[in-house]
This record gives sequence, C-alpha cells and structure tokens, in this order.
Amino acid sequence: VQAVFRSNLSHLLDLMGSGKESLIFMKKRTKRLTAQWALAAQRLAQKLGATQRDQKQILVHIGFLTEESGDVFSPRVLKGGPLGEMVQWADILAALYVLGHGLRVTVSLKELQSNLGVPPGRGSCPLTMPLPFDLIYTDYHGLQQMKQHMGLSFKKYRCRIRVIDTFGTEPAYNHEEYATLHGYRTNWGYWNLNPKQFMTMFPHTPDNSFMGFVSEELNETEKQLIKGGKASNMAVVYGKEASIWKVSGKEKFLGILNKYMEIHGTVYYESQRPPEVPAFVKNHGLLPQPEFQQLLRKAKLFIGFGFPYEGPAPLEAIANGCIFLQSRFSPPHSSLNHEFFRGKPTSREVFSQHPYAENFIGKPHVWTVDYNNSEEFEAAIKAIMRTQVDPYLPYEYTCEGMLERIHAYIQHQDFCVAPGPALPGAHTPQSPFVLAPNATHLEWAQNASLAPAAWPPAHSLRAWLATPGRACTDTCLDHGLICEPSFFPFLNSQDAFLKLQVPCDSTESEMNHLYPAFAQPGQECYLQKEPLLFSCAGSNTKYRRLCPCRDFRKGQVALCQGCL
Ligand code: UDP
Repeated sequence: VQAVFRSNLSHLLDLMGSGKESLIFMKKRTKRLTAQWALAAQRLAQKLGATQRDQKQILVHIGFLTEESGDVFSPRVLKGGPLGEMVQWADILAALYVLGHGLRVTVSLKELQSNLGVPPGRGSCPLTMPLPFDLIYTDYHGLQQMKQHMGLSFKKYRCRIRVIDTFGTEPAYNHEEYATLHGYRTNWGYWNLNPKQFMTMFPHTPDNSFMGFVSEELNETEKQLIKGGKASNMAVVYGKEASIWKVSGKEKFLGILNKYMEIHGTVYYESQRPPEVPAFVKNHGLLPQPEFQQLLRKAKLFIGFGFPYEGPAPLEAIANGCIFLQSRFSPPHSSLNHEFFRGKPTSREVFSQHPYAENFIGKPHVWTVDYNNSEEFEAAIKAIMRTQVDPYLPYEYTCEGMLERIHAYIQHQDFCVAPGPALPGAHTPQSPFVLAPNATHLEWAQNASLAPAAWPPAHSLRAWLATPGRACTDTCLDHGLICEPSFFPFLNSQDAFLKLQVPCDSTESEMNHLYPAFAQPGQECYLQKEPLLFSCAGSNTKYRRLCPCRDFRKGQVALCQGCL
C-alpha cells in the first residue's frame, strides 16, 4: 500500500489520547504546528515526485509517560520540568502521521499489551505471535516493558524497534558482552541492538540515527517584522526551573550582563520569587510555549547558564532572531566527571552547554565563552549588542527537514535483514576501493564489481586513516565529511590497509570498538571481529583508526547527497 501525505491532523490528536498534562502539552503543540506540517508535506511531496513510499503500520509506545515506569515528567510539565522529550515525541508523532503511515499510540502498559495482542493479566506470552506492526518507536523504558511482556516475540521482532534516546548510545555500551568485560556497562546500554536503532535528539554520533524535532519556521515577512521589533537591550535567561539558577559565579556574570541589558526570566514559581532569581531579573514565570516564543521574538540575547544540556530552546531562540550566549566547558563534561551524564551509555565529551549550536550553527548566532573570565564575557556582550543577526533555523530542524529524514529512514533502514555485504574478514581478496590520486584516502573504485545495494549507497564512501588518538567522528569532520558506520564492513580487511599503504607487520581480528585500526608501536593491523562493535565514536592514542566517511546534504547531516 502506498503512503499518502496527510495535512489534517485532527485524527492524530484523537490518537494521542488525553488526561495527562504531558499529552495536553503535546497536543497543543501539534495543533499549533499543523499549518507548518501541512506546508512541509506539500513541499516534500513535490521534491520526491513519483518516489514510491510504502505505508507502514507503526506503534508508538512512549514508555516514560507510563505509570508503570513512574511517569515522573507529567506532573512537572506545569512546574518548569523538562519539556524537550515531549516536544520531540509530539513532533515524531506528527511526522509519522503526516507521512501517511498507520499509527497507534500507547502510554500505558495495558494499551501496549492489547496492541501487541498479549492476553491481559499474563506477565508475558511464551509463544511468538505475528506482530501487527512493521515498526515500533519507543524509549528505553518502553523497551524494557516490551522485553518483559513480549516473550519470545521480543527476540524475533526487536529489529523492528526504534529507541528514542536523547543523548545516544555508543556501540561499546550497546554490546552486552563487550560492555560487561570492558567497563562500559551502564543502567541503560547492553541491548545488542543495531546502534542505528537508537535515535537521538541532536546528531551526536553517526553511530546512532539522528531523529531530532522541529522548531517553528518564519516566513520572510515575519522575519522582517521580528528584526524591526527587537529590543536591542533585552536578554532572556535559558532556565525555567529555579535549580538551574544555582550556578556558581552567577552574581558576577549576571552583574556584568545587567549593566548592558534588561534581564528576563521564565522561571516557574508557586507564590513568590524563587530565591535563586536575583531581584533585578524580570521574571514572567513559566510561560506557555507560544508566549515564550513571543518573548524570544522581542529579545536580543538568549543566555544559557550551563544547564540543561542540549535542549530545544536555544534553537527556538535562534530561529526567532536571538543570539545565543553559552558557557564553554573546560574540561569538557562527560559521564566520567558529571552527575547528569553518569550512567548514560556514552563517553561523549561535551565542550559547551549546546554543542550542536556551537558546532553546526556558530557565530554570529552562537557565542561560546568562558563565563569565569569576566573580560571575555563582557567583551562578548558588547560585541553581541553591535551584531545584527537574521532569524535562522537549520533545514534539519524544519518540518520539511524532519519529514525528509524520517521518510528516508522508514524507506531505507532495515535492521531485520543481515547487513548488505558480508563481513569481509581478513582473507577477502579485494575491497572495492582504490587509493585516491593524491594518496590521502580510499575511494570507491569506479569498476568495483560488488553491487552497492546498501543504504546509504556505498559509492559515497571515502576512507581515511585517522591520526593517533583521533575518533572517526572527528576525523571525518576534519575532512568536511561525516562518519558512516554502515560502511565499516567494506574497510574491515587486510586489503584496505594494503591499499592505504599502511605497513602492517601482522594482522589480527579482535573485538574492540576502535577497530579496524593500526597500532604504530608494533606496526600491527587490527580488524573488527564483531560487526555490532563498529563505532564512529571512540579513540585511543595507541591507535590510528581506519574511518569510513561520506558526504552529507547541507543542513541535513543524516543524509548523503544521493540518499533520498
Ligand atoms: N518553554 C516553555 N515555556 C518557557 C520556557 C520554555 O514552554 O517558559 C519550552 C520551549 O519552547 C522548549 C521547551 O520548553 O520547546 C523545552 O525547552 P528546554 O530547551 O528548556 O529543554 P528541557 O530541559 O525542558 O528538555
């Protein structure tokens, strides 16, 4: 059956159910964005032309909203608690629905069981039964619930599951045996899924799929209107929960900011001003999302205090013509040194509050400075006041960009079949590459006999040997490319090292998330033994990693040039 784009979202609103504050928040958002989604659908339909799109039957089980996992978020919706997850789930639902797929939404264990056909009251069903869904989107809580209640079906159908996982899960943490043996075992990881089944809020590591969310897009008239209506001396603080304001050094840097700008906050309070919020701050209390956007439209500056990490608000601020000022972290925050990241299945180092804003957007929209350095901070404020910016939203965070990306995933990602080419291993005679004319990297050979049926298409591959201690994520970025883990099997051979003119004295095949790699001291080449451990993330000064990179579309890093 062909999927047909939808532009009327009223049936989706019914599907979403009711009652919880979280659902109310999500539905309001979906309703407000209906026109944007409809327009985006029209544009994408035009872009795709006659492309065939299969209609999928999809279950969306939002685990963190179920009573069975505590539902700690719903009661905090009106109190300044985290809303980013709800923003994302609302947008995922909208995107799936607009793309024309069959949709079921569950937010309780009971609904989950009845949709899966598990007899109610039974803890778990021992038999495998046919699963009426092609795809299941859930989160770590939901994954746990499915494991408990699907019996043998879980094993059989887990390849159809997609896990919405804000901060990401790196391969070393995902592989149960490896994680257990090498100290990567956390509360969350070790599910042995294909790492691409985890879908993140921002493009953290290409080992996972980048899901994202959307921010409202302005048309030209609105952009001009906003530019004209900016109060050049108005700043809004990023932080709706009072605890975010308990940051050290706040008096000093807020004091400096207050010399130049009128400072506004949207901090939740019950009856009186939270003590953490200084008296000179004009606090509006937690605002409904549309009013918060209005405030951003007037403001010149949106300033972060270092927490929350990687939320939607800075993108909304930049989309509404604000400059985002944030603190640089030195040393970087990670699961090794910061409570928030502790136990999360990633060793990613975060060099500022919002690395995406810093690295993918940057100046003039984003300024990352050391808040402990008063001169640097003050100079930034002065420069910002002189800087004119246009509202800006990266394509991948527009409705069209999100639809395009999810469309591509749904049509092309299939984790139920064995990955494209078999793992070549040490003895495969030929890899389909040649050394590039300038002898720096490998390229796909024009006459390669291996039919590149895989997605992304293998001819977009460029393979580089990293410098010692450099991860593949960074190595690819260094060359204006992105790491593509699905290409690792092509490189996992003696032949690839040979063609790159790496002098291997010997070659061994082992389980290590940094392999394939070359160890300089012993001139030893290492191949990867376990396909689940292919990882763009990760580095060690001992190794020069062999990295599969590919090109990407401008503003849509998840997709290569020929990937639609
Ligand atoms: N937001 C809101 N009212 C406010 C401040 C923020 O509705 O007074 C919304 C904002 O539009 C954003 C969402 O809260 O979409 C989540 O923002 P944030 O970046 O703070 O992430 P969180 O920590 O809540 O996940």
